[in-house]
Amino acid sequence: MRRSLFLAATLVAASIPVGAQAPSTLGLAKDARIAAALGDVSAARMRTNDSTLVAFGTRHTMSDTLSATRGIGAARRWIHAQLTQYSKDCNDCLRIEYDTGTAVVGRSPERPQVRMVNVVAWLPGRDTSRVVVIGGHYDSCICSTNSMDFTADAPGADDDGSGTVAVMELARVVGKRFPHGLDASVAFILYTGEEQGLLGSTQFAERLKREGKQVTAAFTDDIIGNVVADDGRRDSVSVRVFAVDSLAIGGGELARYVWAIGALYQPAFEVLPVLRLDRLGRGGDHRPYVERGIPGLRFTERLENYKRQHLPTDSLADVNFGYVAKVARLNLATVVSLAAAPARPEQTAYARDRDSGGQSFTIRWSPVAGATAYELLVRRTTVPTYTRIVNAGNVTEFLLDEQLDDVWVGVRAVGADGHRSLTTVVGAPGGARLPAPPRR
Ligand SMILES: [Zn+2]
Repeated sequence: MRRSLFLAATLVAASIPVGAQAPSTLGLAKDARIAAALGDVSAARMRTNDSTLVAFGTRHTMSDTLSATRGIGAARRWIHAQLTQYSKDCNDCLRIEYDTGTAVVGRSPERPQVRMVNVVAWLPGRDTSRVVVIGGHYDSCICSTNSMDFTADAPGADDDGSGTVAVMELARVVGKRFPHGLDASVAFILYTGEEQGLLGSTQFAERLKREGKQVTAAFTDDIIGNVVADDGRRDSVSVRVFAVDSLAIGGGELARYVWAIGALYQPAFEVLPVLRLDRLGRGGDHRPYVERGIPGLRFTERLENYKRQHLPTDSLADVNFGYVAKVARLNLATVVSLAAAPARPEQTAYARDRDSGGQSFTIRWSPVAGATAYELLVRRTTVPTYTRIVNAGNVTEFLLDEQLDDVWVGVRAVGADGHRSLTTVVGAPGGARLPAPPRR
């Protein structure tokens, strides 16, 4: 009897996936306009668009730019034309532009100077100094055989046709549903040069920095359409989000936010936060932002098939557009929620409270334009997400009944319509500090 109970317990334990953890919606409130917009995301349209991308033969960064039918030049002119049409459909609500520059392709022995052309659709916000970035890379390659082969077919249907068509679809749907913009601007961007070392995203991240933009978060959709691994395993019900858990920059805060948004708007589609910058030995277009102190996050399919990446076999038939649509809906809910919210507090400070014998702390934060209240979120340092939410009201200092030595506390701003900002971690090593409040 005892033995069989032990066996049963072992079996149950073995069936629980590693690290399984119930998500928390973190007290975020559902917005009916966002929920309605999710229904507009079209898997069929994304399939059609990806088939057009594949039909350009190759989208290698150094491929033909003059042909009307083949190469990266034709591909970007087509993307620009599609986005321009989406803008016409929302009474010119989007601003479509080429973001241009040159970069040395360092992985080529000749180190040629190559023209870098990203395509951007801007949805201007009420505060155009603040930007939420969501991108995918439209360049492709057959890097697994020859990274500098810019003439052979490189279909790139999944890597990263899938992310490209998702970002284009987001521009269309968000433009149509929110034609007057949100609180922050949104940049829907299709990068070039990813396969040569994140060149297009580095160019855009540098530009935003040069222009003094405050980037709330930068997302990349990269490889978001495969659901069958090489060993036959299938998964079309979960997605990985990669963000490095840097307390000062806020990558982990961003991952917890996406996790919560997924649980709120699309609970049957599991978000699997992975608190590292990217898959081992791999890179993506969120990285140049993270390197500049901006929270960045990568969306990637749960199961990758390495026999179809960076090869002529990365074909349209193997992209599951129903799955791409689920990722795109998660993207949409995340991007709109963040862009509709105020900025997060820039600086925080704390002081131990004497009257409580140090069992409470005074928390202070810098005020945020447009905030109508602030909330403090609390978690033990060993748990992955926040478990307690305290409404502090419309103040910038609050006596919190927590021993701050033992927990992480995040402060966030609440906007007039209930959207919540990202959290700023109190006492994060390297984080921006206010002068400490006086000890009581
Ligand atoms: Zn990629």
